[in-house]
Amino acid sequence: MKRVLITGAAGFLGSHLCDRFMEEGYEVIGMDNLITGNLKNIEHLFPLERFSFYHHDVSKFVHVSGELDYILHFASPASPIDYLKIPIQTLKVGAMGTHNLLGLAKEKNARILVASTSEVYGDPMVHPQTEDYWGNVNPIGPRGVYDEAKRFQEAITMAYHRFHGLETRIVRIFNTYGPRMRLNDGRVLPAFIGQALRGEDLTVFGDGTQTRSFCFVDDLIEGIYRLLMSDYVEPVNVGNPDEISIRDFAEEIIKLTGTDQKVIYQPLPQDDPMQRQPDITRAREVLGWAPKVSRAEGLKVTYAYFKSLSEDDLYKVEHKSFDDYIKR
Ligand code: UDP
Repeated sequence: MKRVLITGAAGFLGSHLCDRFMEEGYEVIGMDNLITGNLKNIEHLFPLERFSFYHHDVSKFVHVSGELDYILHFASPASPIDYLKIPIQTLKVGAMGTHNLLGLAKEKNARILVASTSEVYGDPMVHPQTEDYWGNVNPIGPRGVYDEAKRFQEAITMAYHRFHGLETRIVRIFNTYGPRMRLNDGRVLPAFIGQALRGEDLTVFGDGTQTRSFCFVDDLIEGIYRLLMSDYVEPVNVGNPDEISIRDFAEEIIKLTGTDQKVIYQPLPQDDPMQRQPDITRAREVLGWAPKVSRAEGLKVTYAYFKSLSEDDLYKVEHKSFDDYIKR
């Protein structure tokens, strides 16, 4: 039986990856320090014999006994509010955490896939973003801790590949949504749906003309699985190119939830990218992959998930907005 280690296993993407590898018949070892992860996302796996979980911070030395075939490094805070709240941990897990896991992969002769991000392109001057674009990143801004950690992650991963001959894969993940997103992590989709469910106005930052392209989680997981199984070493964008302005997105959420609330405008956070859309030519050619789930379908499933959460989850608002957080 093949064994896979998944870091960030209790998080949004990590937990879906655990499910996928369990379905594929693997022995799955999940690891998470639970700073932003939630054990509820994987509690259904605990009774299963092929699943085990380690509560561990991968920024510290990682030990796993026995053989490993694959490592997927998905541990990291991943929302702008988290970067402000836990900047040092964000840097450490992308840099030292990646270094530890590359070392483990080398020791075990395992193939490793690291989760990179569209943030390596910063506030992009090229649109849509192709993998050969080097990016426009502010290293010292609020997003710098994430962007630069992920850029370092890509650099050290390629260095382990070139210098040690390690089998490495790099996925650049664009905005993704679906069940198990943290309701109050400050990301736009849970923010809007949470506000609609609580009967609050929807907060659009800036004038809402900035764009994002949202990928449903099932599509993303399929892309990642194919990349891991491929022999392609260079980074691959995985995301849905269907681009929408944040203002139009707010209107879609208002329609979806049937709320009477309106849109209110708040200041745009520093270095908020103006536009973002993946060019997925490489993923199509190398992986034969393209997203299948439309935003309408994906949002319906995601809304049903958020509606099923308890009142307690719904009102556990950590910070109301980016600005409120900075003021504290
Ligand atoms: N945003 C918004 N209202 C919110 C939260 C986010 O208008 O309550 C905007 C944010 O400024 C950004 C976009 O939505 O332009 C996507 O933000 P998110 O934090 O989800 O991800 P990003 O792609 O910026 O990392």
